[in-house]
Amino acid sequence: MTAGRPAIPSELRRRVLIEAGHRCAIPTCRATPVEIAHIIPWSKVKKHEFKNLIALCPTCHARYDDPHNPLDRKAMRQYKVNLNPLLSSTFGAAADCVSLIAAYQDFRTAFGIWVRGELEFAAAKARVRSAAANIAVQDQLDSGPFADALCALLDFQAAWGREAEVSEIAGAILMHFAEWSDDVRAALCPMPVELAHRDITEELAEVSSRLHLMVCEEAGILASEESPAQNLAW
Ligand SMILES: [Zn+2]
Repeated sequence: MTAGRPAIPSELRRRVLIEAGHRCAIPTCRATPVEIAHIIPWSKVKKHEFKNLIALCPTCHARYDDPHNPLDRKAMRQYKVNLNPLLSSTFGAAADCVSLIAAYQDFRTAFGIWVRGELEFAAAKARVRSAAANIAVQDQLDSGPFADALCALLDFQAAWGREAEVSEIAGAILMHFAEWSDDVRAALCPMPVELAHRDITEELAEVSSRLHLMVCEEAGILASEESPAQNLAW
């Protein structure tokens, strides 16, 4: 390891390894063991980010670091992208699913924007100590992202069918977050500790990944689970 360079956090390392199936990300290699490589060199970026990391075996890693080798950055970027089939660069693949996946991606984007805004609002509100400061923070509220997320949910449910389990789960995710958001908005100043410390993104994580897996199943890139459908915990 280079002097002064921090280790890659274990959870980030884990995500990169899972992305590549704990094997070299070059499809014709797939060797083990693997190392974590920076697509744009560490010496330039000076940080560890998921989007710039890829799992490679020591041989491919050494070839990538060799400037005379044809295994260049353009190729490595393509290998990284290929690890995420929902963002496949091939038009025409799973054509009947394109509109479904697009509706899902739109929902994720709109929901993500709303979530980020609300988390920032909650963090700002957790810092205020007076009623006047609380009013000032509340005044900065923007309901646009919520409206966008709700519209994206309705479009998603229309595309997938309102009775479908994916629609139910997506709706439940939005409602669960909306309830938390309402609690944060209604909270008096200072915000109760249990609310300020509640990890809402962790609460959403499991059911979000379940929705994601179901979408992947529907898109034909993941085999369906044999186990019977579980009821929503909320
Ligand atoms: Zn390899």
